[in-house]
Amino acid sequence: MIKTHSLGFPRIGKKRELKIALESFWNGKDSTEQLLTIAKELRERHWQLQTERRIDLIPALDFSLYDAVLDHSLLFNLIPERIQKLGQIDPLTSCFLMARGKSPTSKLQTEAGEMTKWFDTNYHYITPEVGRFTKLALKSEPIIQQIKEAHYLRFEIKPVLIGPVTLLWLAKSTDPNFDKLSLLKDLLLLYRELLIEFYQHGITWVQFDEPVAVLELDKKWREAFLQYQSLLSAGPNIMLATYFGSIGENLKTIAETQVHAVHIDLVRGKYNPKTVHKILPKHTEISLGLVDGRNIWKNNFKNSFEIAKPWLKTGRKLWVAPSCSLLHCPIDLDNERSIKKPVVSWLSFAKQKLTEVDLLRVGLQEGIGVISKMYKENQKIMQTRNKSSLVTSSVVRKEMKKITTQWSSRSVKAKKRFILQQEKLQLPLFPTTTIGSFPQTPEIRKMRADSKQGRVTKEQYNDFIKKQIAHAVSTQEAIGLDVLVHGEAERNDMTEFFGELLKGFVITSNGWVQSYGSRCVKPPIIYGDISRSKPMTVDLTSFAAGLTKKPMKGMLTGPVTMLCWSFTRDDLPKKDICLQLALALRKEVNDLEKAGISIIQIDEPALREGLPLHKKERKAYLDWAVKSFKIATCGVGPETQIHTHMCYSEFNDIMESIIKLDADVITIETSRSKMELLEVFKHLNYPNQIGPGVYDIHSPNTPTRDSIKLLLKSALTHLSQELLWINPDCGLKTRTWDEVTPALSEMVKASHELRSEYKRKV
Ligand code: GLN
Ligand code: ZN
Repeated sequence: MIKTHSLGFPRIGKKRELKIALESFWNGKDSTEQLLTIAKELRERHWQLQTERRIDLIPALDFSLYDAVLDHSLLFNLIPERIQKLGQIDPLTSCFLMARGKSPTSKLQTEAGEMTKWFDTNYHYITPEVGRFTKLALKSEPIIQQIKEAHYLRFEIKPVLIGPVTLLWLAKSTDPNFDKLSLLKDLLLLYRELLIEFYQHGITWVQFDEPVAVLELDKKWREAFLQYQSLLSAGPNIMLATYFGSIGENLKTIAETQVHAVHIDLVRGKYNPKTVHKILPKHTEISLGLVDGRNIWKNNFKNSFEIAKPWLKTGRKLWVAPSCSLLHCPIDLDNERSIKKPVVSWLSFAKQKLTEVDLLRVGLQEGIGVISKMYKENQKIMQTRNKSSLVTSSVVRKEMKKITTQWSSRSVKAKKRFILQQEKLQLPLFPTTTIGSFPQTPEIRKMRADSKQGRVTKEQYNDFIKKQIAHAVSTQEAIGLDVLVHGEAERNDMTEFFGELLKGFVITSNGWVQSYGSRCVKPPIIYGDISRSKPMTVDLTSFAAGLTKKPMKGMLTGPVTMLCWSFTRDDLPKKDICLQLALALRKEVNDLEKAGISIIQIDEPALREGLPLHKKERKAYLDWAVKSFKIATCGVGPETQIHTHMCYSEFNDIMESIIKLDADVITIETSRSKMELLEVFKHLNYPNQIGPGVYDIHSPNTPTRDSIKLLLKSALTHLSQELLWINPDCGLKTRTWDEVTPALSEMVKASHELRSEYKRKV
């Protein structure tokens, strides 16, 4: 008997009900009860939906009000020291204090926990904090409540826990001398206690998520898995769920744990069934992750059967499942009305993927003949997709072949370019600028919605956008900034905006995926060869440039970021998709230059997050990522100044590649790290100009001139004065004009004061 299960379902709701409920609760509009009622409704709806799709064992505890890792911190009392100091706090208040630093249920305020990306996904968790202050304890009540709730509704559920090794791996030890693995033994006692409680509530299977099992682990971490042995006799069967890659070297250790079942990701992982069969104990069941939980393509049944069949031969008990939690997929394709045929028939979202899981199970168990109609239909769709002229463009393919090394290098070296650009731009010492966007006011959002719904004409919308641009330009002139931007009023989102304009992309109407807490993103879908049918930003950028004598900076989203923040096709290597994006953007960069724009910024905030989980794959990634950026930017003359922007704090392991980008100016988010970040730039001798963010735009308080000057002076201890630009951190679009204008004015005044103290040397 082959069974099906699912590892996790999106929590946010098909109309983003959880987001709306959370935000109303935070704003004080809704009560705790109202929030909890919505949460309960969503759980029930999602259990129902999965049961209807004939999933034998559906997940519980995969739901979370904010984040599942945070829920585990609460479950095991991994409470940060600063929150412990606040005294006894109820779980819901603790949850939001840890997530956001505040909660509508309390007057207390604290620093929010750090957010980190969940492996190579775009989901962010709240980092558990551990140290000598950690007082492990089991607080299982809210969790048991959910188990009871499911049982009351008569659902057969499998609680999903983050496994102890992954949980500690993700935790941050606040004291450098504290070894977080020292908590493992005691933590396991709590897991065991919890399993016993589950068993008393009739739970037969528990899923332990251990994605770290696919990483290259050192001995100490690998052997941590052996602790699972202590959980085996607690009652429920244990399924160790691995995903996002192959277990590789860690398989032998995992076999030694003797767990009852192991889930493997057969979409991203490569396995030899014979070898695995030899290594795993006979009783260990295997869950085959056949349906891609990270992407939106319809499963190719033929491929899946081919992958699964050798496992049938092992004679083991098997499960069929998605490759990982469906958290990373939009919920329901039936929610999409505007994706055109045939592309829509190629897609499958979380709900549809569960039907695929069921069909695969039936086919594997009873023979393909039983599902022959569906099988044939599936294969027909695969063929249509394969052969579609929408997918492959001979023009794009020819162009890719034409690329030579010259395309990815600038004709003149950076030092010389600096002089040429300076002659042309005549910028003062410490030039001031911003990162691109200006406030997206409710008025702008409304107008965009009206335009989408056809309530206003294209012309009315364009006129409106031009007015916003004119306002942004005149405000920047009044503030006295040196390099202006048009403000991005026409852009809903930096990826979606270009996805809408480029060929090879479709945009969903409701394909939301949780990014963190109540925040969702709607990644565009790349389904075919990418090309640009006409200039995308030239009109509005030129319009903005015409309104001022100051230099106007063009603003584009870089190829790597476009790639990382989209659902990508699965029939072309990422490196080729990125190259196509680079070629399309290169045309845009060149056209901007032709239109007289002499400063062009290509944002690459996702460059680092594209870094593969496995160390041995990183170099190849960085090589093609850098090449793509350079192809996009190196078509311009030496007088044209290329900027790039990035916003994260870990530059260490990619610094070499950042240097290779050879951007004339890089602006980076730094204010929260108080310029310490620049040490890396100094240490590795970053040769070009840098604009470290001088104030944290996330804070609603206006920064003072003195605080900005202080940061700049500290930056000058790391950088030579000719190389320093002055700008805020990114994200002005999330603030109001009332906040932005005075803050930027302070920044400009700080630059003036600094200029009177320092004089140009070059
Ligand atoms: N140009 C974009 C902006 O200022 C950059 C956004 C980002 O860094 N993610 O909004
Ligand atoms: Zn940024």
